[in-house]
Amino acid sequence: MNQFTASRTVDETHQEPAESQPVTELYTCTTCDETYIKSDMEQCPQCDEAVEKTPTFAELGLGPDSRT
Ligand SMILES: [Zn+2]
Repeated sequence: MNQFTASRTVDETHQEPAESQPVTELYTCTTCDETYIKSDMEQCPQCDEAVEKTPTFAELGLGPDSRT
């Protein structure tokens, strides 16, 4: 059973989450009533108000194209 351990050691020490996939998230500005799709965002580019981070389908585990 332990014969698989050696080949998996590298993976455990070097974990990078989905490097081929850019992490995009939804942000909603309640002031402008606009939704932005950005990878990182804290303020609305239009009114400089703080934006709310909206959970994406992927984060909810409800992705329409669940390719696992
Ligand atoms: Zn705004």
